[in-house]
Amino acid sequence: MSNLRELYQELILDHNKNPRNFGRPPHPTHEAHGYNPLCGDRVTVYLSLDGDRVEDVRFEGKGCAISTASASMMTQMLKGKTVAECDAIFSNFHDLVTGKSCPVESLNQLGKLAVFGGVRDFPARVKCATLAWHTVQAALHGQTDPVSTE
Ligand code: ZN
Repeated sequence: MSNLRELYQELILDHNKNPRNFGRPPHPTHEAHGYNPLCGDRVTVYLSLDGDRVEDVRFEGKGCAISTASASMMTQMLKGKTVAECDAIFSNFHDLVTGKSCPVESLNQLGKLAVFGGVRDFPARVKCATLAWHTVQAALHGQTDPVSTE
């Protein structure tokens, strides 16, 4: 079990040090800004939608390791998915980190994102882990107000 925990920690550190899909794409079709005042995390999520499919998803921002790693792994997960699939993954991820029961099928769908299940006991960290997800939801659904976790 402790090995698994170390593996998870390595995954978060790796994505924090070397975030995937980082930077503004040339022609995003949607974007949204998010801010977590409790921790100071800021994120901007950019989407390029082709119909209702996420052709590309990228992010920029500055925040703690958990917020950055969560945004990085989120972009990997959502690329190529439909809006409805993104909504379902968001819902599963939210259940996972807020400690709601998460059926095995949902966990399987989340794959490596299961690493964030560890934040459920730390409410302040839950906001770090979900910031990019709330922000991508705002971008997907055309919400123009900046997202705040407070
Ligand atoms: Zn944070």
